[in-house]
Order: sequence, then C-alpha cells, then structure tokens
Amino acid sequence: MNLVFMGLPGAGKGTQAERIVEHFEIPHISTGDMFRSAIKEETPLGIEAKSYMDRGELVPDEVTIGIVNERLAKDDCKHGFLLDGFPRTVAQAEALENMLALSDRGIDHVIYINVKKDLLLARLTGRRICKDCGSTYHTEFNPPKVSDVCDKCGGELYQRHDDNAETVGKRLDVNIKQQQSLLDFYQDRGLLRTVDGEKHIDQVFSNISNLVKGQE
Ligand SMILES: [Zn+2]
Repeated sequence: MNLVFMGLPGAGKGTQAERIVEHFEIPHISTGDMFRSAIKEETPLGIEAKSYMDRGELVPDEVTIGIVNERLAKDDCKHGFLLDGFPRTVAQAEALENMLALSDRGIDHVIYINVKKDLLLARLTGRRICKDCGSTYHTEFNPPKVSDVCDKCGGELYQRHDDNAETVGKRLDVNIKQQQSLLDFYQDRGLLRTVDGEKHIDQVFSNISNLVKGQE
C-alpha cells in the first residue's frame, strides 16, 4: 500500500494521516521528519541538506529526492508507506516514480483531500491565542466560553498577524496554483482519488479507507 497524501493547509491532512498509518500499519513519512532524522543520523545527504538550511537557502531538489530515496529503502517501507509533503512538483513526482520503479514498486493511490478555499480560509483565520498563557482557540470549531477571553486564565485572546484573511488567502492561492499541475499529473496516471474533506472527520476517514481498499 504505497500512498501519496495531498491537501491544502487546513484540509485536515494531519488528522487523517494519523488514522491511516494506524489503520493500515504503514509508516507516515513527512518531509519534515525525514529531514530531521537524516540530519540527526548525519547521513551524507543529511549533512548536505543541513549546510543549505544553515545558510538559509532552499535545499536543492536532488538532495531532497536523495533523502526520500534513502527513507523509502528502509525495511519499514517494504509493505507500504504514506508520503506526506512530497512530491510538491511534477519533477519530484517523476523522480519518485523512477526511484520506486528501480525496486519494482509504484504508487497505488494519491489521496487528495479536497476542501473549498472559503472553508479553508474560515478554518485558518479563526485561530485565537491567549496573550497571557498561549492557549489556542478557534472562533468556530473550539470557541472560548466568553468571546475573546481565555477559559483557563481569563487573559485576552488575539489573532496572530499572519492569520489574517488577506495573508492566508495569498498563501493559499500560491499553494493552489502549485498543486494543480501535480493533481493533473496524477490524474493522467489514473492514480488520483479525491475525497470530500468538508465532511465530518470520521466520514472522511471512512471514505479514504474504502477508496484504498477499492470499495468505491
Ligand atoms: Zn490564557
């Protein structure tokens, strides 16, 4: 069961990824974790990646792809994996296809959690943080008992500057544009499975697991 996971920020990817890896007993391979462990283990590619990061530069594609390759060659990936955050571009998707082909593997499903931009905006801009204790709330999904007041310490709640609608909207537009060519790529390959991410989290998970098992 080799899966690639796709979705915009706020689509609920993290929650679903946790459930999938538990249910199908496959490792969750996120780009962040992969980099952290390559750097910690001081693999040659980890050292190289760190040198770019230390200089505040973007890690080049060939280094990222090399790190993914190292990770997918490990024993725990023999029976499958859930890739999350990679690939981000068509070039990376092609590289992934080539590296898997070398070990007679391929991607079985690309799961895309689809949520409309309006709802993503609502989810991402509703966050409120307590000025005094740092507790987080959501105006719609996890509201405090009294509006703008922290339940725990009575402190005042505020919205982080980069959580405002304009900034979040711009960030989403960039992501949407970048994501489209990758969606098209996997659609052409017949691998794209789109799941309605606006449903309840239990329903989303049940849809994903049915898709993966070929029951839909
Ligand atoms: Zn507080």
